[in-house]
Amino acid sequence: MGSLGFSHDDSPFPQSDQQEFKPLDPEEFRKQAHQMVDFIADYYTKIESYPVLSQVQPGYLRTRLPQNAPYRPEPLDTIFNDINRHIIPGMTHWLSPKFFAFFPATVSTAAFLGEMLCTGFNSVGFNWLSSPAVTELEMIVMDWLANMLKLPKTFTFAGTGGGVIQNTTSEAVLVTLIAARDKALERIGTDDTRNLVVYCSDQTHSTFTKASKLAGIQPRNIRSIPTSIDNEFSLCPVALRRAVRDDVAEGLVPLYLCATVGTTSTTAVDPLEQLADVASDYGMWFHVDAAYGGSACICPEFRHYLNGVERVDSLSLSPHKWLLSYLDCCCLWVKKPDLLVSALSTNPEYLKNKLSESDSVVDYKDWQVGTGRRFKSLRLWLVLRSYGVENLQSHIRSDVRMAKKFEWLVRSDPRFEVVVPRRFALVCFRLNPDSASESSRSSESLNRKLLDWVNSTGKAYMTHTIVGGVYMLRFAVGATLTEERHVIAAWKVIEEGAEAVMRSEMLGGKKL
Ligand SMILES: *Cc1c(COP(=O)(O)O)cnc(C)c1O
Repeated sequence: MGSLGFSHDDSPFPQSDQQEFKPLDPEEFRKQAHQMVDFIADYYTKIESYPVLSQVQPGYLRTRLPQNAPYRPEPLDTIFNDINRHIIPGMTHWLSPKFFAFFPATVSTAAFLGEMLCTGFNSVGFNWLSSPAVTELEMIVMDWLANMLKLPKTFTFAGTGGGVIQNTTSEAVLVTLIAARDKALERIGTDDTRNLVVYCSDQTHSTFTKASKLAGIQPRNIRSIPTSIDNEFSLCPVALRRAVRDDVAEGLVPLYLCATVGTTSTTAVDPLEQLADVASDYGMWFHVDAAYGGSACICPEFRHYLNGVERVDSLSLSPHKWLLSYLDCCCLWVKKPDLLVSALSTNPEYLKNKLSESDSVVDYKDWQVGTGRRFKSLRLWLVLRSYGVENLQSHIRSDVRMAKKFEWLVRSDPRFEVVVPRRFALVCFRLNPDSASESSRSSESLNRKLLDWVNSTGKAYMTHTIVGGVYMLRFAVGATLTEERHVIAAWKVIEEGAEAVMRSEMLGGKKL
């Protein structure tokens, strides 16, 4: 007091007659948070009435909102009003039951409650001591989920490994890649990354290339092995072995293999057991990205897609895609946490404490890119406890059942075909009238038109992909609010669209 030259009494600031500003007044919080929950519940009630794909033009919001933040406070009602008038029309409604694009972003009441708690506590759990429950609950929840997936004990804290919640798959890949890199560099006695090579397929998520570059892998050393329709776009172990052998002959060092269970384009599944043979023969780190498909493996009938997982080094899966958890939540399990820690640990003076130094606790900051971390395990904990494994399994099965229904509708219309076998809740299909006389180019243009037509109605939203040169439409079932009637309604829109684009194509043909 007084050390800076003035005390409270000789403060140069006159007393304000304005009310004292309290950004977290518990009673005000209670009132406004209740209003917000009502607003969100109303949004869920009305969500079907909004066009699922937003129809606004780029820059729409700039013309509608002021150029500067308000100087004086504004009431919540005014803000709600603007959300209704300006924000909602500019949103693509990921939670709409008519959303069939990309992969779904699933949510649930239990996860929302967990999110509220996580945000409400705002505990920053970078190390054990900073908030012990943050670390310990995450360890328990990661073990629970590992057991639900029947992962070997080598991936759990109860065994010799452990799991951590990352934000996204990108980070899960990045941290394991860095752990693998540092271990390999140590083994060969250099700090030069120029000879390290990483392997994936041409169906691996684009984030793998990004993570590889971030980890210092030369772009020319990122091997993307071509896949083909013959093995349903999965990574062929023979082709992989050939590529690795060629690299070794060139004096390069195989570092890391990323396989996928449920690729983003078509949900192809790479054969883990055979790929593990190649990885172990060449001493590579073997990671499995099961961002979407992994969640299905909590059901016994899908678990075989993880066969061979006992031989991999790490596995990641994003419950925000299919396990009813909010974005973002990517679970990563590793067999050797020590390798993550030795690659990523930091030890600044201001975080030093006896427990961390004695290695008797987990400090999750050493398992991730950043330092700060949220209490995200609360969301999964609430989901697992409130629903039980039983309901989570039936949630997966119900989505798969609806996707089968859609697949059946596609198959029963001779104008359409299912392009690759359906494995989970994604159907890849296309309009393919008389494929013998149509070039693949005109089939592509027809399907592009169909996609635009359907999406512009606002009654359904799908996306597309191109695999093996074939343009196809992706219909991903799984938005939490979707029921079978929405799937059937979407199919009606698609059939209507097919009618319309084929008619206009024929008219176009006549004009020529
Ligand atoms: C969606 C997806 C990703 C990206 O996942 P996020 O965790 O959402 O970043 C990575 N890999 C696959 C196979 C995916 O489907």
